Amino acid sequence: MTTTNAASVLLIYTGGTIGMQEDCNGALKPFDFDSLLQNVPELGKFAGRIDHHTFEPLIDSSDIEPSIWVNLAEIIREKYDEYDGFVILHGTDTMAYSASALSFMLENLGKPVIFTGSQLPIGRPRTDGRENLISSVEIASAKKPDGRARVPEVCICFDSHLLRGNRCIKSDAGTFNAFSSPNYPSLAEAGISIVYNDLLVRRTENAPFAINTSLDTRVSILKLHPGITPQVVRDIMLGSDTRAVIIETYGSGNAMSKEWFNAIIRQSAAMGKILVNVTQCAAGFVDMAIYANGRGLGQAGVISGHDMTTEAALGKLFFLMGQTDDNELVKRQLELDMRGELTL
Ligand code: ASP
Repeated sequence: MTTTNAASVLLIYTGGTIGMQEDCNGALKPFDFDSLLQNVPELGKFAGRIDHHTFEPLIDSSDIEPSIWVNLAEIIREKYDEYDGFVILHGTDTMAYSASALSFMLENLGKPVIFTGSQLPIGRPRTDGRENLISSVEIASAKKPDGRARVPEVCICFDSHLLRGNRCIKSDAGTFNAFSSPNYPSLAEAGISIVYNDLLVRRTENAPFAINTSLDTRVSILKLHPGITPQVVRDIMLGSDTRAVIIETYGSGNAMSKEWFNAIIRQSAAMGKILVNVTQCAAGFVDMAIYANGRGLGQAGVISGHDMTTEAALGKLFFLMGQTDDNELVKRQLELDMRGELTL
């Protein structure tokens, strides 16, 4: 292990399995930050200064709300000039949602924001928490020879892989390899040393860092499945408090050809709702032109989500809708690559 530069890193501890221990009834409960750090004495070798901000109360990430994303964005803005990088300790269950949302909320990011956590608590034998945390701090500290950050992106670092946050899905609940990025290669791999794929990393924008905390969460998700009923589709597609619907379709963006279904889609589009087509497949992309069953959606005004994950589409919609009341503008922006979240 080598001692690296004297970078400063802020660890933001929100909760999750990494910092949990068993209570007297055997249930996992969060423990405090100092106890967590005691399990990783090597950390000091990677950064000159590691400070922490602990959420109160610590939460299981199943309880994450957009207000916590706002909180995270505000902490990063407040501390932006003070630190070289940020590591967010977060439960794995909703980490891909949080990393996606933050990637849109943080504008012109020039520093690493690395989400990590673990499948086993950090105090347990065989824990993955130590490696995940150490690699995350090393990556958050890494700089190019000119002094700029090596990975100025919102990422997830897990099981030796550094993945772009808005490309991730939690794909495994049972092994240490919990996250995958099916449509974009890893930005780095942590082996004996950390090998960066520099050409895949987004470039720093030459503009001041800013945060967007105005989010509009009126989004529903319709997951198609054989046997779905007209009433269920109607309830989701036409709901009065729904401004946008992510339609999780089959394969390359296909839906059933039944007339009742297409009529509801057309009615929803005519109401001005923003409709986005995202595939249920983990890998690959939406192309509504391939099959007749996809064309109906395109003709009704459904926007292609290309190869975006549902998590990225959700965060992007919250962010875009929070900026404007103009649904047509949101539709146009949805199809643009804003933070590396889709391949055009
Ligand atoms: N339920 C936990 C959480 O998401 C699971 C984990 O951290 O892995 O907070």
